[in-house]
Amino acid sequence: MQVTEHVHAIKIPFAVPTRFVYAYLIYGKQICLVDSGIAPAKEIILAYIQNSGRDPKEISWLVQTHSHADHIGLSAEIKKISGCKVAAHGAEKAWIEDIELQYRERPTPTFRSYVQNSVGIDLVVSDGDTVDLGGGLAVRVIDTPGHSNGSVSYLLPADRPLFSGDAIPPVGGLPIYSDVLAAIQSIRKLRRISGLKALFSSWHDPILGEKVYPVIDGSLAYIQKVHELVRKEKAHSPGLNSSELTLRVLKGLAIPESLLNPIVITTIEAHLKESLRPNVLEGV
Ligand SMILES: [Zn+2]
Repeated sequence: MQVTEHVHAIKIPFAVPTRFVYAYLIYGKQICLVDSGIAPAKEIILAYIQNSGRDPKEISWLVQTHSHADHIGLSAEIKKISGCKVAAHGAEKAWIEDIELQYRERPTPTFRSYVQNSVGIDLVVSDGDTVDLGGGLAVRVIDTPGHSNGSVSYLLPADRPLFSGDAIPPVGGLPIYSDVLAAIQSIRKLRRISGLKALFSSWHDPILGEKVYPVIDGSLAYIQKVHELVRKEKAHSPGLNSSELTLRVLKGLAIPESLLNPIVITTIEAHLKESLRPNVLEGV
């Protein structure tokens, strides 16, 4: 669906009901794709572009917020179809250019069904860089590590939407970040950007207008809620291993136990590293 003058949002369902990822299209003289979703979504993305009167061959840029499988699933295919250039942060490059390496180091259960091919990065980006999309449009790169080391967000100055990838955890969702303090600093950095008109996160439905800043604030409060649960359960049962502790925390967040996976355990371990801080938002 079209969500601003230039931006179209594509919701991509996962096999797990209620879970999804978003990819975004920036329509200008050419097309920029922000993340490519998962491999099974090929027809969804290509059909959307064609039904909107454009051609997938018009994609000139694919800008990656980060390397995880649900963000790079179609990247190789899109590059093959369109000849587009691919941009990503240097800290994500290895996992995008070698998906076997990513799978060895971060083996998510759905990895193989989400991404089948590696893709080469044409432009390594970092904080403050601008990617010129042609026709007077550009996106500005904002480093937002925490969810992953090289996570970036993109600001489109033209109509001021922010593409935040997985940098802003959704309240009530699985908390996924490998560095809790970096995640908080990144969210605050995004919060300081004035005049945001829309927030296009990969795991929220598009957020428009005055709802943008409250959603960002809510994610910070949610991280603190997770932190308090970790501290409470650890104090109550010091002998719990990481997996058992994570299950307790998920229960406290009203998240089904069936969603337990090694990635969310990493999040809880990241909180444990900061467990001496009663309030993880303070002093960061
Ligand atoms: Zn991710």
